[in-house]
Amino acid sequence: MRAAVIHGAGDVHIENVPDPTIRQPTDALVRVVRACICGSDLWPYGSLPHSDTEQRIGHEFLGVVEDLGADVAGFARGDLVVAPFVWSDGTCEFCREGLQTSCRHGGSWARDGIDGGQGEAVRVPQAQGTLVKLPVAADSALLPSLMTLSDVFPTGYHCAVKAGVTPRTTVTVIGDGAVGLSAVLAAKRLGAEQIILMGRHRERTDLGVEFGATDVVAERGEAGIEKVRGLTGGDGTHTVLECVGLAAAIETALGVVRDGGVVSRVGAPQYSQVPMDFGPFLRNITRTGGVAPARAYIDQLLPDILDGRIEPGRVFDRTVGLDEVPDGYQAMADRKALKVLVTP
Ligand SMILES: [Zn+2]
Repeated sequence: MRAAVIHGAGDVHIENVPDPTIRQPTDALVRVVRACICGSDLWPYGSLPHSDTEQRIGHEFLGVVEDLGADVAGFARGDLVVAPFVWSDGTCEFCREGLQTSCRHGGSWARDGIDGGQGEAVRVPQAQGTLVKLPVAADSALLPSLMTLSDVFPTGYHCAVKAGVTPRTTVTVIGDGAVGLSAVLAAKRLGAEQIILMGRHRERTDLGVEFGATDVVAERGEAGIEKVRGLTGGDGTHTVLECVGLAAAIETALGVVRDGGVVSRVGAPQYSQVPMDFGPFLRNITRTGGVAPARAYIDQLLPDILDGRIEPGRVFDRTVGLDEVPDGYQAMADRKALKVLVTP
């Protein structure tokens, strides 16, 4: 089959790779119907040292079950399913606590011999715990929104949940990428009345407003902090959802959070230190967040998508075939596309 591989920074292309087959009784074989390119795929695309050994890439996909191992119950061939961005058994104590990213028998796509999502098919380990059945046809108009259940929407949602967003909390979302916009949608769904979106790409923040942002702050750094404080009577917001992953975003988060408030971060950290000094200590700032256990949120978010109450798939602004995946990476890296949907 054909799948995306990365050899190093700027070097993603489509190659022939071995066809996946059932190897364990807990496996399923899924033919990929939709995949996408993640903002976090852009980190290796921007900086991975070149290697002659190719590495598979992609961790978001939905597709049709083509084959099932003997121990996988609850699925049948032909089912449309979505996979969260890590696989997990669904039975260990971490999975039962809703922290499938710490599953004792789980792992990541596109490494250690596991297929990536950007390809024609995937062998899914621990399929019964990992996959979620989607009650729609494989040509449903809902596929883009259902695709976001793999990663980007649950990641934004996790950020808001960890921050404790409720109807009584004010919210700042830092970052107008697909996760930031998902965090806006999540904060709205959780009832927040004031949602300030910090981002400077107009077409993205416009979508953020449609998703529920009440204010947009395009300024960065000190000017951005001052503007947010001005919108909140000088104090900042109760919660800050940091969806970028750069040190400057953490500094902004600490600048716009209200004393006693919460900074929640889901941007994959591209820094090694966060400020833990006397300033945040004196202000009783809680810091939380981390990698999102997407699997834990899919069941509760799915009905809203099926009902059409929310449309997180609007973050996709470009669709490519498998052969155009390298162009998709370049378009996202150049900020010409917000998020790229792939139809293998
Ligand atoms: Zn587990």
